Amino acid sequence: MNTFSDFSLKTYNTFGINSIASNVVMPETSADFRDTAKSATAPFFILGGGSNVVLPDRYEGTIIHPINKGIYKIDERGDQGCLDGRVMVEAAAGEVWANFVDYCIAQGWYGLENLAGIPGTVGASPVQNVGAYGTEAKDVIDSVHCYEIGTGNELWIAHDDCQFAYRWSRFKGEWKDCYIIDRVRFRLRETFTPNLSYKALSSAVDDNKNLTARQLADIVVSIRDSKLPNPMEIGSAGSFFKNPVVDSDTFHRLKEQYPEIVAFAVDNGGFKLAAGWLIDQCGWKGRSLGKAGVYEKQALVLVNRGCATSSDIIALSQQIISDVKAKFSITIEPEAIILD
Ligand SMILES: Cc1cc2nc3c(=O)[nH]c(=O)nc-3n(C[C@H](O)[C@H](O)[C@H](O)COP(=O)(O)OP(=O)(O)OC[C@H]3O[C@@H](n4cnc5c(N)ncnc54)[C@H](O)[C@@H]3O)c2cc1C
Repeated sequence: MNTFSDFSLKTYNTFGINSIASNVVMPETSADFRDTAKSATAPFFILGGGSNVVLPDRYEGTIIHPINKGIYKIDERGDQGCLDGRVMVEAAAGEVWANFVDYCIAQGWYGLENLAGIPGTVGASPVQNVGAYGTEAKDVIDSVHCYEIGTGNELWIAHDDCQFAYRWSRFKGEWKDCYIIDRVRFRLRETFTPNLSYKALSSAVDDNKNLTARQLADIVVSIRDSKLPNPMEIGSAGSFFKNPVVDSDTFHRLKEQYPEIVAFAVDNGGFKLAAGWLIDQCGWKGRSLGKAGVYEKQALVLVNRGCATSSDIIALSQQIISDVKAKFSITIEPEAIILD
C-alpha cells in the first residue's frame, strides 16, 4: 500500500490549500482497506477528491485516501428473471464521480444524468447524498460496502439504513469516522426517462421527445459551468453553505420585509431559503477577505483568490455567517467540512 509522510495535499483538494499531512495512506486492494480500517487510530480523516472540505494548513494525523478503481455490472437476473428494467452497477470508491456518470451513460445505464459533472469520488457520494437538478444519490444508491474502523470487518449497508436526507446521511452523523466506504452499488435503469423536474433544466431543453441521456448530461454540465467555478481554474468547494430551512412563520416574516426573497416550499411545511441570496443581500458577492473571496457569479461559493490558507477561508465564512445573522436573524451553516 502507498504510504507517505509530510505529504502535500495541494492537488488533493479542490480549494487548492497547500495542506501538509503528517501521514497519508492510499488503500487500493481489499486487504489494504481491511488493514487500514483495523489499524486506524484518531486522528484520521478519509479524503476522497477533497471537493467538500477545507483542509487545515497542517494535519497531524492520518489521511486515508482510497485509490481503488473499477465499475462493474452485477448480474442479478439469475433465478429472479428481469428486475423490472433495472441494472445493478457497482463502482469502486476511488472512481471519479463524473467519469462514473459518463461511463454509465455510455453503457446505456440511466438515472445519473442530472448528477453529471459533480466533482469528487464515488466513495463520497453516499456520505452527503450528493444532489443536483432534482436528483440525489439516494434515488439510485442500492447499498454501500464498508470496512469498520477498529475491527477491519467488512459489511454491506442497505439504502434504508443510511438515513439519506438533503446533503446528509448517517455517515455524516452517528457513523462519522466509523467506516471506510470502498464501493457502492447503484440501481440504474435500462431505459432512459429524463428527469426534467428542475425548472432550469426543463427550460434549457428544446425537444424533450428526442432528448438522449448524453444530451441531458451535457446540458447539466453546461448549466453548472455557467454558475460554478471550474476547480481546475479557481479553487472552491462548490456551494460552501447549506440552504437554511425555516418554519412558515419565519418565512412569512422575512417575505413581508423582503418581498423578493428567494425560497422554495419543502415537505414539512417549512421553506428552504436560498443562502446565496441572503449572502448577496449582505453585499458579499464578488468581495474578498484576505486571500479568500465570494465568487462573482454565485454568492454561495467561496473561492481561493490565490494561495489562500485554511484560516483565510474560515475567517471569510465566519464573517459571512455573522453578517447574515445580523441582517436576517438566520444562521447559515457550512455544507463543506472544516477539518482542524
Ligand atoms: C465546483 C464544485 C461543485 C459542486 N457541486 C455539487 C453539487 O452540485 N451537489 C453536491 O451534492 N455537491 C457538490 N459539490 C460538493 C462535492 O463535490 C461533493 O460533496 C462530493 O461528493 C465530495 O466528494 P469527494 O470525493 O471530493 O469527498 P471529500 O470532499 O474528500 O470528502 C467529503 C466527505 O466524505 C467523506 N468520505 C470521502 N470518501 C469517503 C470514503 N471512501 N469512505 C468514507 N467517507 C468518505 C469524507 O471523510 C468527508 O466527510 C461540489 C463541489 C465543487 C468543488
